[in-house]
Amino acid sequence: MPEFCDVALSVPLDMAFTYRIANGTQPVVGGRVLVPFRQRRMPGIVVDLHDRVPTIQAKNIISTLDASPVLDHQLLRLGRWIADYYLAPLGEVFRSMLPLAAEFKRSINYRITDEGRLALHQAGLAGSSARSRRTPEGQLAEFRVLDYLAEREMTALSTLGTAARVSKALLDSMVRKKWITREDASAAHEAANVAKFAVLKDAEGKLNSNQTMIVDTLAAAGGKLGLEMLRALPVPRATLRTLAKRGLVEIIEEPAEFSVSSLKARPSPFDFTFSPAQQDALSRIQNQVAARKFEGILLHGVTGSGKTAIYLAAMKLVLDAGRSAILLVPEIGLTPAVAADLHQVFGDEVAILHSALSGQERAEQWHRIKRGEKRAVVGTRSAVFAPVSDTALIIVDEEQDSSYKQEETPRYHARDVAVMRAKMANAVVVLGSATPSLESYFNAKKNKYALLELPDRVEQRPLPEVEIIDMRQAFQETGHEQVISRKLAQEIRERLEQKEQVMVLLNRRGYSPVVLCRACGKTLECKNCAVALSHHKRTHRMECHYCGYLAPVPKACIYCGSEYVYFLGTGSEKLEELLHGMFPRARIGRLDRDTVRGREDFERALNALNNGELDLLVGTQMIAKGHDVHGVTLVGVVGADAALGFPDFRAAERTFQLLTQVAGRAGRGQKPGKVVLQTYFPDHYAVRYAAQHDFAGFYDKELRFRSWMHYPPYSAIANVLVRSGKLEEVLRWSGILGQWFEKPRHEGVRVLGPAAAPILRLKEDYRYHFVLKSASREKLNALLRAMLTHATQQKIPRTQVIVDVDAVWMM
Ligand SMILES: [Zn+2]
Ligand SMILES: [Zn+2]
Repeated sequence: MPEFCDVALSVPLDMAFTYRIANGTQPVVGGRVLVPFRQRRMPGIVVDLHDRVPTIQAKNIISTLDASPVLDHQLLRLGRWIADYYLAPLGEVFRSMLPLAAEFKRSINYRITDEGRLALHQAGLAGSSARSRRTPEGQLAEFRVLDYLAEREMTALSTLGTAARVSKALLDSMVRKKWITREDASAAHEAANVAKFAVLKDAEGKLNSNQTMIVDTLAAAGGKLGLEMLRALPVPRATLRTLAKRGLVEIIEEPAEFSVSSLKARPSPFDFTFSPAQQDALSRIQNQVAARKFEGILLHGVTGSGKTAIYLAAMKLVLDAGRSAILLVPEIGLTPAVAADLHQVFGDEVAILHSALSGQERAEQWHRIKRGEKRAVVGTRSAVFAPVSDTALIIVDEEQDSSYKQEETPRYHARDVAVMRAKMANAVVVLGSATPSLESYFNAKKNKYALLELPDRVEQRPLPEVEIIDMRQAFQETGHEQVISRKLAQEIRERLEQKEQVMVLLNRRGYSPVVLCRACGKTLECKNCAVALSHHKRTHRMECHYCGYLAPVPKACIYCGSEYVYFLGTGSEKLEELLHGMFPRARIGRLDRDTVRGREDFERALNALNNGELDLLVGTQMIAKGHDVHGVTLVGVVGADAALGFPDFRAAERTFQLLTQVAGRAGRGQKPGKVVLQTYFPDHYAVRYAAQHDFAGFYDKELRFRSWMHYPPYSAIANVLVRSGKLEEVLRWSGILGQWFEKPRHEGVRVLGPAAAPILRLKEDYRYHFVLKSASREKLNALLRAMLTHATQQKIPRTQVIVDVDAVWMM
């Protein structure tokens, strides 16, 4: 047995730590050990066993947690690649890869109480006086905690401590005030796979309006509903407890195998015959899988061309051959209905990894996959690390989706990790999309990936006709700003009369995005971020869409006291109201992050549309995501081009993708569809090409721009963000790094900056950034690594210099 082992710990340091192997402990490479680290005990992954005596005295490991590796040879290699490529500490990469924290660490979690919500609300009402600069730091910290928890379900101590920058002592004192509750994750209801249901016992007696809503909802659902469903109702949680106390409702626990939709049964995903193009794509994938050689395939299929059926069929073939497959889907795509489809096709062999799983459930699924009980894995971003063996196929659906990029350390892109994993496993990776990313399309053009095209919709349904409405002209004609143009209003009216369905996209939630004072010209900004607060009418508050900060709706300007405060612009909430006014008899639903808390809400809204319970659905980009609703014959696009004004080189690409996706919702059934696209940029190529369904035209033009500007895919890019709560610190640190970058040490790498980030302040941090571009990824990464070393020497904390390789979000 070697004398020492090197252990990767989840700390922000780019190194492994050497420990002495104590008698009786037998660590394995890829297995976990418990070690002492700075007065704490920490689990880590063994990355090497050796006899090299370290220069400083090595401590003994405390115990070995695994007799066999939790990360096999391939996943270890993948982890090292990620650490190297994204410049992330190896221990933090492994932590992201292994959802096992819940196993050996009893996590402490917090939840906001109704009393806490009340305190938050009152502080909000008191406005600037209660939360001014004179407020003691302790109180501010308490509000940070309440703000954070108000937006979330249960939150772990570790997350909360970092996010709200508070100590456990402060949290304990808040528990004593009854503003928050503390729960241990190992408590029975978390560990066991049970769900809570409300059962209606009695509907007699006097009820207030909130109570009536719950009782009616339960009655309509046949007397029993999951608490999750009831929580989506706009009533305080205390209402249900009151009903339970009065004996009208009983709360019961039942085993819950998450998965199958409680909603309507769906037809089989294989309920139609494959088109020749689908058949070709499937055989191509099948042949490559059989060859056991790496291949990347870009499956470019127009909206409605039946890509999902190909994915499922290909995975089924892989499973039938005794091998394993992984399907990655964007966050919002994993609804209970999709889960039901998957169970129908794969039975018990499928593991579904979604964000609503608890730590325990996640760990349990992980072990089942590791033991080989589940060989089909479907999940969001981190499912790319599922410990399947004999990986034959990895599919990334909607590969351009930005939810595949993790926006915290390690900042990996799951699509690119999927490609690398497939390469290491001699497997096939399929990237599917109606609107592939520039990077993937470029790779296909360069023959790095095979390109499979599905140019037609299933059953030869036509793509919708797109009409562009120039809103500048509409403004000149009417003399005032319009949200819904005359043309769009007329088209909507016609569809409603014919009992057809309509979707209207406005990619901005809330009622009004800006509150402006006409007297002093200031807009109301978030206290933590340099962004405008949005007005939310139903909840009657101002909200920051970046950090979740809430404030009361101002009656007078908070800066100058003037009463001339104006609410400007339109969000989805106001659009819904406008449409109600224009079409009072239409049944209108709204889909955005204010109406959708979880996957069930999302599915419920879509089902309502599918079942004809809605005539019109308004929403943000959520309505554009690949869902198959057959009755929609008209899609209206209202202000989806705002992003074209953002200082982000991907703005045109994102706009083109969004427009194409939302247009794809029209005419998926028997009747052809139409899109009315309102824009202030009618001549912009992203708008033009989207209207013509001309993917190739857009890509050619955009690629030319990228090439001129040395942007990806023509160069590798990294965003280096320097952040601190103190502006002086940010300026000093970015000055130090700026000077270092000035020295001629980076041939072949362009460095732009330091400059204020487009959003100067975010979540209480001031932010400056550098943008690095290089045709050579090796040179880029070497320079970044040297810069990090310099930053450490200059005592700039590693956590305050964020290196984002292949950054997706440049703001
Ligand atoms: Zn003012
Ligand atoms: Zn904010």
